[in-house]
Amino acid sequence: MSDTTPTPSVGTLFLVATPIGNLEDITARALRVLREVSLVAAEDTRVTRKLLAHFDIHTPLTAYHEYSTDAKENALLARLLHGDSVALVSDAGTPAISDPGAELVAVAIRNGVRVEPIPGACAVIAAVIGSGLPTGRWTFEGFLPRPKSDRRERLGEIARESRTMIFYEGPHRLKETLTDLQKTFGPDRPACVAREVTKKFEEWVRGSLTEISAHFDANEPRGECVIVVSGRTEGEVVPDAPDAVSPESLICAALERGLTPKDAAREVAAATGMSRNDAYTLVQSLRGA
Ligand code: SAM
Repeated sequence: MSDTTPTPSVGTLFLVATPIGNLEDITARALRVLREVSLVAAEDTRVTRKLLAHFDIHTPLTAYHEYSTDAKENALLARLLHGDSVALVSDAGTPAISDPGAELVAVAIRNGVRVEPIPGACAVIAAVIGSGLPTGRWTFEGFLPRPKSDRRERLGEIARESRTMIFYEGPHRLKETLTDLQKTFGPDRPACVAREVTKKFEEWVRGSLTEISAHFDANEPRGECVIVVSGRTEGEVVPDAPDAVSPESLICAALERGLTPKDAAREVAAATGMSRNDAYTLVQSLRGA
């Protein structure tokens, strides 16, 4: 155990949550801190400048994002050690949750800097509490890995999870991810997609994974989404791993959802890594059978 007791003369690193859509979702304390600190370290200074301007705050800004160098981190640390307080914000929601920040926090703590979160909007919390699914125990998965093999591996690891699971996803990959989740947890698993939470077109789609997929087949997803999936219930049989579900059963499920053979082939090709031609040939042979 190392001694990381904050030194009184150094500044504080504040981790300030900002709105995930609705600008009213910022706390009075967050506004005070953003006004009082010497510097705001922002994921994208253009985004944060607009937020600060809206609240008539004129604190200097600097960039701190996932590509920031060690030199940038050291410069922020130097400011903190010199006695300046810094507020870290991301583009939206809570910093260090699927956003930059965790590394800076670790460095600050190692160097005896006081770290103080200013809690507020966070997409995972909003989604889990609005989902209608069990909230007693849940696990945050963030974004699934993008490469197919890593994604399958991760899904295989959590296939038997009994806690509610939460995933972040953008609109472009939502349908593909829902297909992967069906393969892993089975088509009937209760789930919820929370889309554009706190924004004008906020939408909550609740039902089985198959029903939710069908909804987004009919309504092209737009905006940011959180997927909440119920955990395995006692005795429930789940596919061993994503690969355990055959392309044939995926095709049948896709056709049952009303997809055209072409769309079914496209979806199954995306989910399994087979070529679209092979998937289409398989669709046609299954329809023939
Ligand atoms: N740190 C942020 C937080 O936890 O609030 C999340 C940042 S992460 C880069 C962005 C992802 O958060 C989106 O892809 C989406 O999954 C989720 N998200 C953020 N805002 C959202 C909103 N208003 N509605 C639904 N999901 C949202």
